[in-house]
Amino acid sequence: MSKRTSGEGPRCPFCGSQDVELHALFGSLMLMSQYYCNGCRTVFEHIRDDEPPAFPQER
Ligand SMILES: [Zn+2]
Repeated sequence: MSKRTSGEGPRCPFCGSQDVELHALFGSLMLMSQYYCNGCRTVFEHIRDDEPPAFPQER
């Protein structure tokens, strides 16, 4: 797995555009966020990797 490319935001998996905006904080999974691509006008999901989720973890 290759990750940690500096300064790289979510990218549209359909057209490869980085012209995306946050659509919903959570997708089908809590670690996913939904983004809206302005390039092809498609909503896609992107794994949240940079921030911890805003809900308390069970302990
Ligand atoms: Zn796109």
